[in-house]
Amino acid sequence: MVSYKELGLVNTVDLFKKAVKGGYAIPAYNFNNMEQLQAIVAACVETKSPVILQVSAGARKYANQTMLRYMAQGAVEYAKELGMNIPIVLHLDHGDSFELCKSCIETGFSSVMIDGSALPYEKNVELTKKVCEFAHSQKDYVTVEGELGVLAGVEDDVAAEQSHYTRPEDVQDFVKKTGVDSLAISIGTSHGRAKFKPEQCTRTADGILLPPPLRFDILEEVEKRLPGFPIVLHGSSSVPIEYVKIINQYGGKLMDSVGIPEEQLRKAAKSAVCKINIDSDGRLAMTAMIRKVFVEKPEEFDPRKYLGPARDELKKLYMHKNLEVLGSAGKA
Ligand SMILES: [Zn+2]
Repeated sequence: MVSYKELGLVNTVDLFKKAVKGGYAIPAYNFNNMEQLQAIVAACVETKSPVILQVSAGARKYANQTMLRYMAQGAVEYAKELGMNIPIVLHLDHGDSFELCKSCIETGFSSVMIDGSALPYEKNVELTKKVCEFAHSQKDYVTVEGELGVLAGVEDDVAAEQSHYTRPEDVQDFVKKTGVDSLAISIGTSHGRAKFKPEQCTRTADGILLPPPLRFDILEEVEKRLPGFPIVLHGSSSVPIEYVKIINQYGGKLMDSVGIPEEQLRKAAKSAVCKINIDSDGRLAMTAMIRKVFVEKPEEFDPRKYLGPARDELKKLYMHKNLEVLGSAGKA
């Protein structure tokens, strides 16, 4: 049993309060390996941004939960060494059971998501409430994110064919009954790289797919019912066309990729949306650079020679997100 405070981590309470007031969103970046974590920390130190480090089910399977938790502790020390003690949250992404949330909390996570969104409403309330009661009764208060509404797309082990938007009429009741600290809602973002089928999109003259716009009307309704309450957006990668092009130019095959335009995320970040999850864009940035090195320097076989450039590109991407999309730069 270790408390996150001993590791130098923070929960989301203060971060979200300031973000809602200040009209920006805290970045929530997923990590599975050292290069990703270095890029996240370096980008956030350089832009003076708070950050939420996310551990998904896929990450736990790939890298091991204990390993990731110690890496997060390393991230805190690394940030200090780079010159700034930025606020760092260690967050469980899409927790699917009470037991999993409990085990993360007991090993030093400062925040967890319990995703009961696929359950019937009353079951979601029951499960989320149970996690909140446990998380909030710790010596150091652990924050909990719940979810209402279902996002489409595939993200690690989370997959849904059909999305359905959050019903604004449910949110007050859900927050009151469960005691959650923040709420993920579904307003048209989607997990993964191919967020929408081509037939759902419009195509620009140069063949770029434009997704249906986010449902800001639903977000406004939610805000009206829960004034100042922290709202979370999952599946908010923009799938930059430059990366898709590099990947395909160097032998990749990513067809019909489509993401959420950054202007729409910037608009959302100015509202009660105070946490925005970005994962696929980082995957694309790394893959683009690795493919490029493999084709341009076929004699290389030192992993540092391709993971290094991938890490540099990832850092650039995250700095851009903090500065231009989320508005979290300078808020640490
Ligand atoms: Zn998600």
